[in-house]
Amino acid sequence: MHLNIVMMGRLYKMNKIDYTRKNDRKDIELKENLEVPYFYFENIEATNLVVHGFSTRLGGVSREHLSSMNLSFTRGDDIENVFENYRRITRAMNIEYDSLVLSMQTHTTNIRVVTNRDRGKGLTWERDYTDIDGFITNEKGVTLVTFYADCVPLLFVDPVHCAIGSSHSGWRGTVNKIGKKTLEEMHMHYGTKPEDVIAAIGPSICKDCYEVSEDIIEEFKKSFTLEQVYNMCDRKTNDKYQLDLWKANQYVLLDAGIKENNISVTNVCTCCNPKLLFSHRASHGMRGNLAAFIGLK
Ligand SMILES: [Zn+2]
Repeated sequence: MHLNIVMMGRLYKMNKIDYTRKNDRKDIELKENLEVPYFYFENIEATNLVVHGFSTRLGGVSREHLSSMNLSFTRGDDIENVFENYRRITRAMNIEYDSLVLSMQTHTTNIRVVTNRDRGKGLTWERDYTDIDGFITNEKGVTLVTFYADCVPLLFVDPVHCAIGSSHSGWRGTVNKIGKKTLEEMHMHYGTKPEDVIAAIGPSICKDCYEVSEDIIEEFKKSFTLEQVYNMCDRKTNDKYQLDLWKANQYVLLDAGIKENNISVTNVCTCCNPKLLFSHRASHGMRGNLAAFIGLK
């Protein structure tokens, strides 16, 4: 089925987007009827306090394995393509281009407090920070941008103190509980209480697609209870395991005090949907980057 959309005097033709979900939950939805489709979370949207979204591969100008909405400057793309992709996705999400602040992720648990002085860093201006895997802010006028291609995006909204957070939780970030660290930083700077927080665990690699070796499971045993580790992985032969980073991050957020009903968990896997989303595993590393966006209205 084809859908023709007239937008700003030009005709765009878009295929209806096919993708698979791991269950029937409706926590996450794809805004399809746009030049640039993107995912959003119902519970985050319902706070009415933020603009947010999670990009797909669709709607950009990049080519080949970066096709087409690559949002990384460090994966070999033409810089002008990446700028155009940012112009398109911010227009689609109704976000001010100049408000973006880009992370500099290195699988740490370092969180940066973002203010209006950071507007444009990583996009228009050089960053004056490195090794930042999470952002928090309570200011309007900035949009927190973090990057993904299988790792787990975590989004936080504190409706009581009007504060937000966004953090990148790969397996290292999950073992080191960057989700908990983000909440602690929000508490320290804004007075956030976890029981007030609305959170989302975004599109990333599912348990069926994520095989890991025993040494990684050993790391998880050091920071989670044995029961939790038992529930988040399946043992296979040859000391290989299937690891559920969605469940692991759910444990991190629950243990930190967020209410179960306030946590949305993605059912969209990056690796199961390599035509829609960039996946490091599915592409053997030949891929661009997706991004999560969140900013206070
Ligand atoms: Zn999968």
